[in-house]
This record gives sequence, C-alpha cells and structure tokens, in this order.
Amino acid sequence: MSAQIIDGKAFAASLRERVGAHAATFAEKAGRKPGLAVVLVGEDPASQVYVGAKGKATLAANMESFEHRLPADTSQDDLIALVEQLNADPAVDGILVQLPLPGDLDEQAVIAAIDPGKDVDGFHVESAGRLMVGREGFVPCTPLGCIMLLQDRLGDLSGLNAVVIGRSNIVGKPMAQLLLDANATVTIAHSRTKDLPEVVRRADIVVAAVGRAEMVKADWIKPGATVIDVGINRLAPAEGEKRGRLVGDVEFAGVKDVAGAITPVPGGVGPMTIAVLLRNTLVAAHAHEGLEPPE
Ligand code: NDP
Repeated sequence: MSAQIIDGKAFAASLRERVGAHAATFAEKAGRKPGLAVVLVGEDPASQVYVGAKGKATLAANMESFEHRLPADTSQDDLIALVEQLNADPAVDGILVQLPLPGDLDEQAVIAAIDPGKDVDGFHVESAGRLMVGREGFVPCTPLGCIMLLQDRLGDLSGLNAVVIGRSNIVGKPMAQLLLDANATVTIAHSRTKDLPEVVRRADIVVAAVGRAEMVKADWIKPGATVIDVGINRLAPAEGEKRGRLVGDVEFAGVKDVAGAITPVPGGVGPMTIAVLLRNTLVAAHAHEGLEPPE
C-alpha cells in the first residue's frame, strides 16, 4: 500500500491564510501592521531566493516587510548596530538574520544581539532555553512546522516512538524537544549512532534532518510509520538537465511503499518554514501590543 502524501504546501497555504486574516484584525486593533525585518548580508544566491520569498509572503499575509541588504564586507559592529536599531524600532515585531553569514562574521554574537522578544527564528539562546524548560518562547520555524504536520496527521503523539536523525540547533534538537513535549518517546540519532537502520526501524515517527540525499532507505522504515523529510539536497544534473533534481534525506520512491504517511521534497516541510515564521511574527506583534495571541 502506498503512503499518504502529507501535503505541506496546502497546509502551509492554509496557515498563511489564517495568519493573514489575524494580521488584518491585529492592524484594526493596533493601528499598524505586524512587521518583520529580514537582514541579508552578502550575495549568496540561495539566501537571496529565501529572502525574496519571505518578503513576498510577509506582504501577502498583511504584514509589513523591512528588508536590509548589506554588502558582504559589512563589519560585525555595523551588523550589530543594525540589529540594535531594529530592536528599538516599534514597527518591527520580528527580526530574522539570514544565515549563513559570510566571511568572519560571528553568527552567535549577531543572534545574541537580537531582542529575544523579536527572535521569531527562535535561534537566540534564551529561546532555546525556554523551549528546553517548557516556558513560552519562540520555537525554530522548521521543527515547529514539522510538529504541526505530525499532530495534524496523527493527533495525540503520546507514547509513540520517535527517531530524529540529526542534532543541529536549528532542526534536530528543537524537533526532539517538541516531540518530547508531545509525550513521544524520543531517540536522537546522529553521525556516531551505531546501526542507524536498526534504530530507525523501531520508530513510529521518523524525522530526517541530515542533509544527505536519499540516505534513509525503505528497509529502515517500520510499516505504517510517519516519515517527515526535512532534508533539501540538490542532485548533480542528469544528462540533458540544467539543474539537478531536489531530493530529501529519504529515498521517497521506496519509502512511500512502506510508510503510512510521508512528506515529499519539495512540497512537504519546506513551505511550512515561512508559514511558521509569519505565525511567530504575528504572535510577537500581539505580545508587543499587550494583546492575547490568536489560536
Ligand atoms: P546540519 O548539517 O547542521 O546537521 C546535520 C545533522 O545530521 C548532524 O547532527 C549530523 O550529525 C547528522 N548526520 C550527518 N551525517 C549523518 C549520518 N551519516 N548518519 C546520521 N546522522 C548524520 O544540518 P541542518 O540540521 O541545518 O539541516 C539538515 C537538513 O535539513 C539539510 O538538508 C538542510 O538543507 C535541511 N533544512 C531544511 C529546512 C526547510 O525549511 N525544509 C530548514 C533547515 C534545514 P553530527 O552532529 O554527529 O555531525
């Protein structure tokens, strides 16, 4: 039997629509739109595409978009000065500094300069700490999007065995914490994990966030498991192709015949990230105006 394909694109579109409607109501109450500032340093082509997409989505969700594009040779002091200016700007509810930063710029120091109340990416250590101890705060957008897809598909995750492959600060670790908070029994696997296929075979939920094209194979998957593929990898172009295909960390063609449900790449987790960023910005805006955040 073929797995249900989890349509992240449709889920994200409906989330964006709801956020847009709430943003319009917010603007009526607050007399201003929620505002998201995005800072891009340098000319990285992928980052330029992401920033462009974020700007468009922000405007479409009835929010104000402030884009700051700085040259690659921007100094650490100038970048931090811009972050501080955005911290102080009452029109800005959320600040996102597009990573990776070029050259010698210190990402941790720049993220540390963001007001945690505007840390809509959830990368500040205060946000990470709040997630860890179960206090309200901003959660990184990609794992929050993944847990939304999982809860939409499975409802209550209590007692389910979840294996997260990858332990980065932006995906793997917060993903594991969110699953734990949802009462799953969580295993975090990484490059030193012994017999990864065997570990993954125990999982009712698999989240792959590795960055290795099609690493997770069909015979690693317990029949009926729910598979969330975070990976975005571009294959080398085949003959006659200008650009290689985009694939995830999961071998979709084989796994879809074993899993109960699976996210495709593209069109699965990817679209959720921007939708959740807008949702986090909406929540920040409500907090800044002393308003109850919408559901
Ligand atoms: P990182 O490179 O920061 O982390 C990768 C993790 O995978 C590490 O913890 C690493 O282990 C682990 N790993 C590497 N090789 C293996 C292996 N052979 N077996 C088991 N584990 C392994 O990546 P990110 O977390 O930032 O991103 C992961 C993927 O998700 C990438 O493809 C990225 O493009 C994608 N991504 C997608 C987003 C979206 O919007 N859909 C957003 C963010 C990321 P160790 O710690 O031991 O080195």
